Amino acid sequence: MSGLKLDHIYKIYPSGVQAVTDFTMEIEDKEFIVFVGPSGCGKSTTLRMIAGLEEISDGDLYIDNIRMNDIQPKDRDIAMVFQNYALYPHMTVYDNMAFGLKLRKMPRAEIDARVKEAARILGLETYLQRKPKALSGGQRQRVALGRAIVREPKVFLLDEPLSNLDAKLRAQMRTEITKLHHRLATTFIYVTHDQIEAMTMGTRICVLKDGIIQQVDAPQKLYDYPANLFVAGFIGTPQMNFFDAVLTGTKDKVYVEFENHKLLYPKAKSSKIINLDDYLNTGKPVVIGIRPEDFHDDEMFISNSKETVVEVNVEVVERLGAETLLYCVFGEQEELEEGVIKSLVETNTQMIAKVDARSNTQAHQKVTLGVDILHSHLFDKETELSILEGEGTKAYVPVVELERLQKLEEEKAEKERIKAEKEAAKLAAKEAKANKNKVDGE
Ligand code: ADP
Repeated sequence: MSGLKLDHIYKIYPSGVQAVTDFTMEIEDKEFIVFVGPSGCGKSTTLRMIAGLEEISDGDLYIDNIRMNDIQPKDRDIAMVFQNYALYPHMTVYDNMAFGLKLRKMPRAEIDARVKEAARILGLETYLQRKPKALSGGQRQRVALGRAIVREPKVFLLDEPLSNLDAKLRAQMRTEITKLHHRLATTFIYVTHDQIEAMTMGTRICVLKDGIIQQVDAPQKLYDYPANLFVAGFIGTPQMNFFDAVLTGTKDKVYVEFENHKLLYPKAKSSKIINLDDYLNTGKPVVIGIRPEDFHDDEMFISNSKETVVEVNVEVVERLGAETLLYCVFGEQEELEEGVIKSLVETNTQMIAKVDARSNTQAHQKVTLGVDILHSHLFDKETELSILEGEGTKAYVPVVELERLQKLEEEKAEKERIKAEKEAAKLAAKEAKANKNKVDGE
């Protein structure tokens, strides 16, 4: 059993950079957890704190219920694989894999058995006597994995292990690492900035931004129920389309209005809106999120969804073979004087639709697209959190986020109090003046 518990962990570098804030997560034995997020979001720092290569500023780290904060890296029973392989160039593949075990003074026969078993699992048996320079990038990465495997650690930590490989090899190694995880049945923690790697490999994914957890969930859950705008935009390619919108209508018939369009928001969705009264006909801004794949240009779909269509102008069509991308703008296409060529930077595509490869839609065409509104997402523009029950509510909302929201609420209440005070003072002054005039008049 090798579960991990990260309990309110913080990392503040001596320079003052707060790289990780209130990281709280439990990782079960044999899980394949992926930390994903843009560069600088604190993924490697968190991994390095688990490995013991970086001190934990605050909070507690447990592996198998034992507090690890003050335990030396070599005594944590973990193995780490880095992006740059970190192989010894003068040693053979065999010696590279055996080196760590020799240092630990393991009996020679045991080392030999472990190295050969790792080589068998990784398909490196015929390369054992080669030096790293005579290996391909993928083979080198496998040796780096082998060096971790022979240690038989409780936890594997992998820091962007595939980013030095070309796209094809990366895809191949991705499936190899997933297979390795199944075979070894050990806990894996994998760091990447690549959402495709995260989606394909992780049993659960932890999305990070600015050192703060945004959501922890299974890959499909992240895609189907993003907790906030950041996760919605980060998971999925091309990115989800976002439109500033307001909600109008009645409780029984809610409309979502954006870009001069008014779409019927079906009861199945509107009944899930948290605090609908705050938004309905109040002008409180929301953001509707629609994934490119949830727009359709086929007749059948459009005729079945008359109240949920948009009219757009197609600027560019990209035929990718298996699917077609439409880069579209709302409103009329600008009429240019004859002979005037529009600047490239002026084309501001407002949305992307991913339609069937057999679509006949052409560039510079005005088209109607049907929206699969049941799969759309709704966020509060101010808090950026999902306002659909079962999306935002289920997700992990970090303590700091709650504090920020609470602070926003307090600030709002304070502003309202000041406004009310000012109005009361104005009213009192008006009354006093009226009374004075009355007295003067008498
Ligand atoms: P990621 O792995 O997500 O790209 P890192 O964990 O490497 O991000 O970095 C998180 C933040 O901490 C960044 O702002 C980075 O500049 C900062 N950082 C990383 N290492 C150090 C360090 N040794 N000293 C000061 N700041 C650091």
